[in-house]
Amino acid sequence: MTYVVVENCIKCKYMDCVEVCPVDCFYEGENMLVIHPDECIDCGVCEPECPAEAIKPDTEPGLEKFLELNAEYAKTWPNITVKRDSPPDAKEFDGAPDKLNKYFSPKPGTGD
Ligand code: SF4
Ligand code: SF4
Repeated sequence: MTYVVVENCIKCKYMDCVEVCPVDCFYEGENMLVIHPDECIDCGVCEPECPAEAIKPDTEPGLEKFLELNAEYAKTWPNITVKRDSPPDAKEFDGAPDKLNKYFSPKPGTGD
């Protein structure tokens, strides 16, 4: 089992999650984060920290696409453990529809 970062992180990227993870398994893309499924120890402490409710346990149904996306990009995006400012327009995109198709960027973020 692992926790998974899902669609509503895209363009919100508040980063409250990264500092609580005991095994530093968050990886940073240009406009979202992912969790490395092989490193996550399923402690669950990040889930309630996310203001966008964008972290879910993989036991929830329907997360296959995001589980795959987390696993794929955790291999190449840089590790992130220290919170930075979220995007200035993060609130506008919180809850916006169809973010994966409209806004997902495969580009890496800057990491720590
Ligand atoms: S706290 Fe939530 S929205 Fe922010 S980066 Fe983490 S998963 Fe994404
Ligand atoms: S569940 Fe625990 S180990 Fe997994 S990403 Fe969240 S804080 Fe890190």
